[in-house]
Amino acid sequence: MKLKSTDLLRDFIALLYPNLCLACCENAPISKDIFCVNCYYKLPYTDFLDHKENLLTDRFWGRLELEAATAMFYFTKGGIAQKLIHNLKYKGKKKVGIHLGELYGRKLQASNLFQNIDLIVPVPLHYTKERKRGFNQSALFAKGLAGPLGIPVFEQALLRSSNLSSQTIKNRLERLENVLGSFVLAQPNRLENKHILLVDDVVTTGATLEACALKILELPDTKLSIATIAIAK
Ligand SMILES: [Zn+2]
Repeated sequence: MKLKSTDLLRDFIALLYPNLCLACCENAPISKDIFCVNCYYKLPYTDFLDHKENLLTDRFWGRLELEAATAMFYFTKGGIAQKLIHNLKYKGKKKVGIHLGELYGRKLQASNLFQNIDLIVPVPLHYTKERKRGFNQSALFAKGLAGPLGIPVFEQALLRSSNLSSQTIKNRLERLENVLGSFVLAQPNRLENKHILLVDDVVTTGATLEACALKILELPDTKLSIATIAIAK
């Protein structure tokens, strides 16, 4: 097989810069950053931290009582957020989750919408899925957020108990009923009277987040906010 010069060049760059841009995995990052200059200027940030009511809060309108909700990026097909999440979930690049969390944690810390949070709780993966992947990507994002915010993560707060087939489930209500039954709180007393920041990777319909949130909001005097890596439009 003949090596193409672009492959050689890429290998050479990878040798010089073992920490390539976390989005394209091709170019060297800007000094002390995690993205190359191309990706940096294309990061699809939302402006949700400037708006108490936004696309994410709209998605849960009438379904959940939230203190605040935000997503870091817009998720589009072929876009940078999709690349980042693909590298994180399927290429095992755990540092994507941590770095994005640290980056966004600094923004949350500066936002007046996300003050007074007591505990960060990631949406759990099903046990067999986590064992196969070796990590929970939402928990990595949560750990990244925890640094700048100075707030602890309770990774095992929610556990996923069942893994029912989603193929036979047609509408939102059935989907919700299915996922609702699949989460349990490990130590509910640790969440009582607390303001919880629930963390997930990508929001689409929001059914999983809603199920986790409803479980937490059953507890006495619990408040809830949400932060995710991305939101599908
Ligand atoms: Zn890049």
